[in-house]
Amino acid sequence: MRTKIKEILNREDADYKVNVKGWVRSFRNNQFIALNDGSCLGNIQVVIGLDTDEKILKSITNGASISVDGTVIASQGKGQRVEVKADSITILGECDPEKFPLQLKNRPSLEYLREIAHLRFRTNTFGAIFRVRHTLAYAIHKFFNDRGFVYMHTPIVTASDAEGAGEMFRVTTLPFDKTPRNEDGTVNFKEDFFGRSTNLTVSGQLEAELGAMAFSEVYTFGPTFRAENSNTARHLAEFWMIEPEVAFNDIFDNMDLAEDFIRYIIGYALEHNKEDLDFLAQRLAEEEKQKPMNERSELGLIEKLEFVMNNKFERITYTQAIDILLDSPAYKKKKFQYEIKWGADLQSEHERYLVEKHFKKPVIVTAYPKDIKSFYMRMNDDGKTVAAMDILAPGIGEIVGGSQREERLDKLEQRMQEMHIPTEEMYWYLDTRRFGTVPHAGFGLGFERIVLFVTGMTNIRDVIPFPRTPKNAEF
Ligand code: ATP
Ligand code: MN
Repeated sequence: MRTKIKEILNREDADYKVNVKGWVRSFRNNQFIALNDGSCLGNIQVVIGLDTDEKILKSITNGASISVDGTVIASQGKGQRVEVKADSITILGECDPEKFPLQLKNRPSLEYLREIAHLRFRTNTFGAIFRVRHTLAYAIHKFFNDRGFVYMHTPIVTASDAEGAGEMFRVTTLPFDKTPRNEDGTVNFKEDFFGRSTNLTVSGQLEAELGAMAFSEVYTFGPTFRAENSNTARHLAEFWMIEPEVAFNDIFDNMDLAEDFIRYIIGYALEHNKEDLDFLAQRLAEEEKQKPMNERSELGLIEKLEFVMNNKFERITYTQAIDILLDSPAYKKKKFQYEIKWGADLQSEHERYLVEKHFKKPVIVTAYPKDIKSFYMRMNDDGKTVAAMDILAPGIGEIVGGSQREERLDKLEQRMQEMHIPTEEMYWYLDTRRFGTVPHAGFGLGFERIVLFVTGMTNIRDVIPFPRTPKNAEF
């Protein structure tokens, strides 16, 4: 039976037999193999006999996979508590060092590793990132499960384009040539697979609201797709989103839930992935050293995560945010590229100013002008703003977008008409307001954005196994 390397490294004792399997990270002096099986960051040192077969010795190269039977013994050398003294060694899969694109000797750049994303899991950095990603996903389910939320699978193929008009991917089986047409020349979607026009979902929220009207608290955690042509370090065309939706919650309950949730999953990762996070913290610290003094962040990765765990987020209204920005030295020195005026959306440079320079902590901005937010957000009594809440995080900008929903049928219909959203087609959504409507609220957390935040990485392409971005869908 195979023993995981993590288990051996975590055990206190020695002098027992094991079988270990994994991939060679390095081989030196024809005697010492650093072996990794992905169960943890650390390698186990395998010491092989000086009488090992010449053919086997030749096959022990970086990237080769091997199986070792041997004994765990207290290590003679420095740097490790235990090592495996090999009795026998089998080559499972050879790896030609001349052809293997992953040479770990000189640390390969993140850009290069993106081109070989099918192999990058085998580096320390990506091993750590994706173990942390896993832990966060698990913590998310645990958080909601512990609180009695029902995990709801909302559809990936949707017919509703209420939310993402313009940035949706079409789903069709219609041919490109001889596309069936109506008399007026438009595409005849009655001939399409679903008998209507369909897209990939941009959010599971509208369907989650239907669930919340029965289970009280639900959440979704699934893939979402946006055909936005923004080649930024924070946008993917395919990303994962977590969307809790809670009946009877107002905007304040919603903020409390989002804060508790973010703190919980960060705490869970700190507790269960300390080794990986320490490694990523060290990596980030080295990267920071390359930057000029005034651009370096004041906190290391672990300190930053602990800070977020231990401090309430700042809560301000959009109007206050605009005032702060207009009053800022950065504005007066004309450092902002985009215009700042009441009614315009906050750009990422503004969001980052608020969190990184002004408050130096995560900020929740509420009460946005209704015209820059979605139709379903609840109108505030001023008639100008809606009960929206965005959470802005240092280094990233928006990580959460949420709101209290408009539960009043007349107000919702009126808003939909103003925004040219077809009310007949959305009858199923409006039915929730017709049949036992209740105040309710929810939010969407972009999973990759929180993985970015927790791992200290800066490009969203490095925290999803196979990134999909404009002009890129490799692997
Ligand atoms: P942004 O202004 O950053 O584009 P958004 O306002 O479009 O975000 P929402 O529609 O509120 O975002 O989506 C909820 C959350 O989903 C966001 O807070 C963010 O964390 C995440 N998100 C949105 N778009 C993307 C994307 N293209 N790639 C990765 N995550 C995203
Ligand atoms: Mn967007």
